[in-house]
Amino acid sequence: MTTYKAPLRDMQFVMQDLLNYEKHYQSMPACEEVNHELIDAILGEASKFSEEIVAPLNTVGDQAGCQLQENGEVLTPPGFKEAYQQYVDGGWPALDQPARYGGQDLPMSIGLPVREMNGTANWSWAMYGGLSHGAMETIDEHGSEEQKRIYMEPLVSGRWTGTMCLTESHCGTDLGLLKTKAEPSLDGTYRITGSKVLISSGEHDLAENIVHIVLARLPDSPPGTKGISVFIVPKFIPNDDGSISERNDVSCGALEHKMGIHGNSTCVLNFDGATGYLIGEINKGLNYMFTFMNLARLGTGLQGLAHSELAFQNSLAYTRDRLQMRSLSGPKNPGGPADPIIVHPDVRRMLLTQKAFAEGGRALIYFASTQGDILTRSGDAEARRLADEVLGFLTPIIKAFLTDTGFECANLGLQCFGGHGYISDWGVEQNVRDARIAMLYEGTTGIQALDLLGRKVLGTRGKALDPVTTFILDFCKRSRSRKELRPFLKTLVRLTKQWRSLTRRIGFAAMRNRDAVGAASVDYIMFSGYLLLGVAWAASARAAYKRLDQGTPEESFYRAKIQTAEFYFAKILPRTSTLLETMSAGPDSLMEMDEDHFIF
Ligand SMILES: Cc1cc2nc3c(=O)[nH]c(=O)nc-3n(C[C@H](O)[C@H](O)[C@H](O)COP(=O)(O)OP(=O)(O)OC[C@H]3O[C@@H](n4cnc5c(N)ncnc54)[C@H](O)[C@@H]3O)c2cc1C
Repeated sequence: MTTYKAPLRDMQFVMQDLLNYEKHYQSMPACEEVNHELIDAILGEASKFSEEIVAPLNTVGDQAGCQLQENGEVLTPPGFKEAYQQYVDGGWPALDQPARYGGQDLPMSIGLPVREMNGTANWSWAMYGGLSHGAMETIDEHGSEEQKRIYMEPLVSGRWTGTMCLTESHCGTDLGLLKTKAEPSLDGTYRITGSKVLISSGEHDLAENIVHIVLARLPDSPPGTKGISVFIVPKFIPNDDGSISERNDVSCGALEHKMGIHGNSTCVLNFDGATGYLIGEINKGLNYMFTFMNLARLGTGLQGLAHSELAFQNSLAYTRDRLQMRSLSGPKNPGGPADPIIVHPDVRRMLLTQKAFAEGGRALIYFASTQGDILTRSGDAEARRLADEVLGFLTPIIKAFLTDTGFECANLGLQCFGGHGYISDWGVEQNVRDARIAMLYEGTTGIQALDLLGRKVLGTRGKALDPVTTFILDFCKRSRSRKELRPFLKTLVRLTKQWRSLTRRIGFAAMRNRDAVGAASVDYIMFSGYLLLGVAWAASARAAYKRLDQGTPEESFYRAKIQTAEFYFAKILPRTSTLLETMSAGPDSLMEMDEDHFIF
């Protein structure tokens, strides 16, 4: 089985040296008191819970999976229920939720590292509570006062959990095709009828009630995405005082058998005239669901980071221990029968790739969470507007890039174990299986790429790029006085300019042929991810040099940051050259072949 140790030192580095959380909080209403002592205390407790309670259930969940009982109830793997109860008793679900609903009102940037630890320890388990965040945001932002009064407190406390019910067997990406019906009743509620598939945490035994957020269509609504509304469909109908009464007509028809995340129940949910409560206005459902999906997308980016970190930690331990062959440059363990495999350059390539993606990815997603803080808390309207733009731009990149690199790291992690990684004893093959889903749900990589390039970048005639490219060029200018950084900065300036000019070029090509967008989009989003991670690594190196100048007692920690940055610029960032070339190649080689000629 895999083992997990929360990377508290690296988290502190990002929060203190890189992003200066304390200063960030001083400008944020109701956060002025948040300081590093408080953050360390919270993260310390969360790390113990994740390492001691949640992580040991990771293999159990994979092996036991979930069981659908004859009565339609779903049993989660042994230990999941008790761990969830401890999570609720410890107040963890409420950590970064509003005080008006009983939350602790801490900023999102503190909730995120806690979710990272829970999720790296055991992603399947963490999903049960994780999906409630989107349900809460949707109800809080678009629900009626009555809905907030009934649903928010139990969701915030973790007594109830949430789901997101979009997908039907014939529609996943194209939600405009959905068929689930919502028929108005005389009492103002709706009868929901239809079948949803692949619903995460759709039925389970962890919480008293499950709040399904369901997309459905009224009989007279227009076809396509303009005719979708969103409903709350609780498993048990709540009473006015917040207690629960009769069972609603929603049931789990089957559990999906799947490649990974076995500990999470992925359900076929049947709605047989179930009582639903409309959120907001009719036919605005898809707009409202973007609140949910945006959060879920950041959460899925976090999953990518989780798999990179888990892969790195476990393969590092193994490669320091496993003895095979001698180093090409002379024995490094002359007293032993062979050298540990960490001495071999190719093994180091695999380890450093995992370290660079895990630590760089952490810097990137924590930065995004500080933008979330500004968006939800700042009293400065202009600051909120800018944070909204930046976060909207970063979200598809974080989702697609961190999940893609998370899967790459999980794979490299297995490779470090050789054939032993392929058998289940070490748990690293589970990490590969669990990581794969993150590139699919919450919008596949292809869909994130279209969202970024088609909707956000070209849809604004490239303006969406401006805040981020200006930030990068400004960062490079401000960092020039540190001469060791200059090679990094030169590369970043070049890539940023190429990013801008390439965007213009694709925009022009798209005016002649719309397929130019789809042909370039995945390469474009990956290019964007590599560049942003380059910025994260240059900034990390800058922060490390500063600490070394000050005479830190942790020299090796900070030197390792600089060395990882050097590795990233030398061995990973050049992938952008290939991407530039393939992006510039246009759609013809993809589209010319007639469908009938795809012969096998
Ligand atoms: C384990 C698991 C858990 C899930 N949890 C949930 C959940 O909680 N709630 C929920 O509602 N759903 C959930 N899903 C469903 C998931 O979100 C969908 O599977 C996903 O959105 C893709 O839809 P699809 O499977 O229908 O694929 P399709 O939409 O059929 O897509 C197939 C392929 O075609 C590509 N494609 C489609 N359209 C385009 C286009 N216009 N341009 C370029 N490429 C395109 C896609 O990128 C993909 O590669 C879950 C799925 C799994 C496997």
